[in-house]
Amino acid sequence: MIIILKENADSVQFDALKDWLTKQNVTLHISEGIQQTIIGLIGDTSHIDIDIIKQFDIVEDVKRIQEPFKNANRKFHPLDTVVEVGPGVKVGGGSFAVIAGPCSVESEEQIIAVAEAVKKSGADMLRGGAFKPRTSPYSFQGLRAEGLRLLLEAKKATGLPIVTELMDLSQLDLFTDVDVIQIGARNMQNFELLKQIGKCDKPILLKRGLANTYQELLMSAEYIMASGNQNVILCERGIRTFETYTRNTLDISAIPALKTLSHLPVIIDPSHSAGIARFVSPLSLAATAAGADGIIVEVHNNPSCALCDGAQSITPPVFDDLMVKIRHILPFRCKINA
Ligand code: PEP
Ligand code: MN
Repeated sequence: MIIILKENADSVQFDALKDWLTKQNVTLHISEGIQQTIIGLIGDTSHIDIDIIKQFDIVEDVKRIQEPFKNANRKFHPLDTVVEVGPGVKVGGGSFAVIAGPCSVESEEQIIAVAEAVKKSGADMLRGGAFKPRTSPYSFQGLRAEGLRLLLEAKKATGLPIVTELMDLSQLDLFTDVDVIQIGARNMQNFELLKQIGKCDKPILLKRGLANTYQELLMSAEYIMASGNQNVILCERGIRTFETYTRNTLDISAIPALKTLSHLPVIIDPSHSAGIARFVSPLSLAATAAGADGIIVEVHNNPSCALCDGAQSITPPVFDDLMVKIRHILPFRCKINA
C-alpha cells in the first residue's frame, strides 16, 4: 500500500499518522521528496482500512498495490484449485462439470424424472432448490425439508451428487447429505452465513450478487476460506444492467477476469442470466468456449407448469442437444485458450 501525503504536510500530523500505521504491524518505508512525501507500507496490509488513512488531513491519496484477498488470490496459489465432489466428480483444473436440474424440487415424480434424464445426457451433478429465495413472499417458497428428502431420493436413484441452496444457518443440520451447498446471489454478502459455512468441509457454490464486483465476490469467497473451507466454486449468474430484454446480463468477462485474479474454479449459470430458455444453449456454449469450469443449468420436464423459473428452464431433449454441443467444444477450447 502506498500513501501519498499532501504538499508540506504538518509534522505533528505526520507523526500521528506514522504512529497509527506502526500499530498496524507493518513496516514503513518513507521517501521524502522536496515537496511531497510518500509512505510505502511493507507487510500484510489486508486488514488495514484504507478509509481510516484517508481521514488523516495530510493524506492526499492511498493506493492498494495488493488485493485485499489472500486465500482466494492466484498470486499466492498459482495452480488452479480443483474442487472434488465425491468420487470422480471434479470442478476446475481442466475438469468441466455440468450441474443440471429444476429450479425447485416440486414432487418426487418431477425430481426423479429430471434427475434420470439429465444423468442419461451426461450431467455430473443434480441441482434443485428446496429453500427458495423468491422476490415475492406469495410465490412458491420451496418444499423445504421435504424437498431435501426428495433430492436425496433422486441422488439414491441416479448416483448424482446434489447441489442445493442454503438460505439460513438454521437449515444447516438438514444439509448433512448434501454434496455441494449453494449460497445464492442474494446471500453473497451475508457474512455471518459465509463465516459459518467456512467451518464445514463441503464444497460451496458461491453465486455472484446481482450488483457485485469481482473483488466483492472474491472477498466473500475469502470469508469462507479464512474460516477454513478452501472448496469454493465461483458462479457468475448474470448481473443487473440497463438492459431489460434479458432477466440479467451474462458477464462473460467474469470468466477470464476471475480466473486471472483467483485460482478458484468459475462456473456459469446461463439460466438466471438470460431468463429465457432459448438463450440458455448459446450462453452455455459461449461460457464453455471462454474457459468456464462448468455450467449450472435449469432443466424441467414440463417448463410451462414449473412452480418457479419455467420460462428459463430447458427441457431434457434440449439439454441433451446442449451436452452434445459442449462435448464438441471442449477439445478445441484448450487450443483456443492456450
Ligand atoms: C437458483 O439457483 O435457483 C437461484 C435462485 O439462483 P440466484 O441466487 O443466482 O438467483
Ligand atoms: Mn431458478
